[in-house]
Amino acid sequence: MKPAANPSRISRRRRRVNPGRLWRRRRRVNLRDYYQRLRAHFGHQHWWPGDTPFEICLGAILTQNTAWSNVEKAIVNLKRARALSPRALHRLSERQIATLIRPSGYFNIKARRLKAFIEFLFAEYGGSMTRMRRDQLTSLREKLLSVNGIGPETADSILLYALGKPIFVVDAYTRRVLVRHRLIKPSATYDEIQALFHSSLHLPRSTFFNDFHAQFVAVGKTYCKSRVALCGRCPLKPLLSLPSGKKKRICNKQIIDFLMMGDYIAAAKLQTLRSRV
Ligand code: SF4
Repeated sequence: MKPAANPSRISRRRRRVNPGRLWRRRRRVNLRDYYQRLRAHFGHQHWWPGDTPFEICLGAILTQNTAWSNVEKAIVNLKRARALSPRALHRLSERQIATLIRPSGYFNIKARRLKAFIEFLFAEYGGSMTRMRRDQLTSLREKLLSVNGIGPETADSILLYALGKPIFVVDAYTRRVLVRHRLIKPSATYDEIQALFHSSLHLPRSTFFNDFHAQFVAVGKTYCKSRVALCGRCPLKPLLSLPSGKKKRICNKQIIDFLMMGDYIAAAKLQTLRSRV
């Protein structure tokens, strides 16, 4: 039989704090509050720039690993060459496409990806975006993910912005904000983050997801930068919750995590809080 544990040991064990525990602790998330604050601050973002669903699809592929301003130059070249329709692009060779999209960077790889997408569009839907839109969300997502060079973020951008399907797009900005607000673990997967949005927001509409993702991009570019978090002026500052209460010990690791993210205000707050408990 297992010997009974020493009661004094149990209480000591209960008091001991696992450094990652507070970080990982699941909290009740009100994502609508995030959206409302961002929307009030930045206004509606009117995404995604693009005249047609097909142009949005191309933009979603071309924007991989590059700034949007470079994508715009590539789109202008495609427009000038009258190649911004499924049939016109289908007729071009991979090399011709690469020349036109050169400003977007990684142009050979992206030309191969555009070619793979256009082949898929013709093989599955006869080159028609309307027929593609009629397909069911889950099966369409699976098909898109099987196309060379289309990962979850690109597939979901196409589904949401080009086809109006209700699915949330997760990107580096979303991840950064959620990690800094301790709503997810830094190691959370794409699917886990997406599930958080889908489960927290009841009956989401594509128009809502559309602007919510754009708002994360806006706050990520303006305040929640990769090297530094400008929390002082950020509309999400009131939601930057920190552990409180005497029972919640604040460990050095949490302070260091904030310092490493460049979030000096949050680190200082934790430091002050720790000195009080
Ligand atoms: S800048 Fe600060 S308050 Fe704003 S989203 Fe980032 S961590 Fe949150």
